[in-house]
Amino acid sequence: MSFFHSKSATDFIPQSMLQELQWRRLESVLRHTYENVSWYRDRMKKKGISPSDIRSLQDIAKLPFIVKTDLRDTYPFGLFAVSMEKIVRLHASSGTTGKPIVVAYTQNDIDVWKEVVVRSLLCYEVHEGDILHNAYGYGLFTGGLGLHYGGEALGVTVIPMSGGNTERQVMLMRDFGVTAFSGTPSYFLHILDKAHEMGVDLRDLPIRVGILGAEPWTQALRNKIEDGAGIKALDIYGLTEIIGPGVAAECHHQGGSHVFEDHFYPEIIDPETLEPLPDGQEGELVFSTLTKVGMPLLRYRTRDITKLIPEPCACGRTIRRMQRISHRSDDMFIIRGVNVFPGQIEAALLSIEGTVPHYQIILSRQQGLDEVQVLVELTSEKFSDTIRSLENLRKTISRKIESTVGIRVSVRLVEPNSIPRSEGKVKRVQDLREI
Ligand code: ADP
Ligand code: ZN
Repeated sequence: MSFFHSKSATDFIPQSMLQELQWRRLESVLRHTYENVSWYRDRMKKKGISPSDIRSLQDIAKLPFIVKTDLRDTYPFGLFAVSMEKIVRLHASSGTTGKPIVVAYTQNDIDVWKEVVVRSLLCYEVHEGDILHNAYGYGLFTGGLGLHYGGEALGVTVIPMSGGNTERQVMLMRDFGVTAFSGTPSYFLHILDKAHEMGVDLRDLPIRVGILGAEPWTQALRNKIEDGAGIKALDIYGLTEIIGPGVAAECHHQGGSHVFEDHFYPEIIDPETLEPLPDGQEGELVFSTLTKVGMPLLRYRTRDITKLIPEPCACGRTIRRMQRISHRSDDMFIIRGVNVFPGQIEAALLSIEGTVPHYQIILSRQQGLDEVQVLVELTSEKFSDTIRSLENLRKTISRKIESTVGIRVSVRLVEPNSIPRSEGKVKRVQDLREI
C-alpha cells in the first residue's frame, strides 16, 4: 500500500460506486450538452436519438463521435456550452498537428482540472514540502498552467520555469533544491546533457521524480533518464480537448497511467469499425468529459492507441489504467508499405552504446522511391573514435533498425550537439516527400 492522502480518495472507491457516479454524471452532462450546444443537438437528431434514449453507461455507444476536424470547423467558439460571462479561461492546443483547437473553462472546470492534477501529483508521491520545477510551456499550451495550479492547490512549491534558457534551468534546479520536475521527456534529456556539460550531476541533487509526458516516449528512454538523473520517471497524459495534463497519471508501480475516469470516461474502440472494444484490447482511445461545463465533449476520438487495464494496481487504486501510449497516430509514416513509428527507431538506437538519444528522421522520395535517413548524434567520447570504429557503429545501427522496423534506412552519424533540441514537444520526423 502506498501513501494515502484524502484528496485521492476517489481513486480508491469500489468499481460499482464509481460506475454509479459516472452514470449520474453522464446523464447530467448529456442533458447540458444537448440543450446548449447546437452541434451536438444536430448530430444526435440526425442519428434519431435524444438524451432520454441513453439509459445506462453502456448506452454511451449510441452517441455520435466528435473528431479534431469538428473542433476546427467550429473554430473558435462553436462548441461552448455557456455564455462568455461564465468562461474564466481560454486555452489552445500547441498545434503540433495543424491549426489550433480552442477550449474554454468555467471556474468549475478549472477546479476540476486542479483536482485531477492534485490526484496526479499524489500518484507521483509529490506533496507539501516538495519543490516542483515546472518546465512545461506557460501560455496557450495547457501544460504549464495546468501543472501550476494543481501544484499550488496541493501546497507544493511551484517554480514556473517554462521552457528555454536551459543553463539557467540547471542552475536553479541545483540552487533551489528542486525535488520534482515536470516537462517533456525530450526536454528533460536536454537538461540532463546540459547539466553534464556544466559539471552538474543530477544524481547528486535532491530531485527524485520526473513527471514526463505530452509526447510519446519509450521504455528505453525512461531507463536512460532514470539512470542518468537518479530519479523515478513517471508518465503524465493529457490533451487540450479533454482538459490538459492530468487526464491520466502513472503511479510508482509504472504499469500504465491511472485514468481519472470519474471525470473523463474512457472507451476503446476499433478504429476501423468504430465498435467499442472490451478492456484489455488495444484500440483507439475515446473520451467523454463527465463534469466539464464550459466545453463538454462527448466521445472525442483522441487517435491515441492504447488499451485499458482492468486489473487492480498494486498501489490500491481502483480506477482503471491505460497502457503507455507509444506513438501518436499522426507521427506514423508509411515507407514502402510498412508502418513505422519514431519510437521503434528510438528503441533500436538506445539499445546501442555510444549514441545519444538525439536523432532525426528525414523522409524523401528519390525517383519515385521512398527513402529514410536517420541522423544519429554521437556522444563526445565516441566522436573522437577512429573512422573504422565509427563505420562499424553506423553499420550496427542500421542493421539494428532494419531488424526492428523491417525496412532499410540510411544512417548518418552526426557531431555532438548538432541536432536541434526541443524545449517543448519534440518533432522527430521531417517529411520532404510532398515538397
Ligand atoms: P497538440 O495536439 O497540439 O500536440 P496537445 O497538447 O493537446 O496538443 O496534445 C495532446 C496529445 O499529445 C495526445 O493526444 C497524445 O497524442 C500526446 N500525448 C500527451 N501526453 C502523452 C504521453 N504521456 N504519452 C504519449 N503521448 C502523449
Ligand atoms: Zn497504481
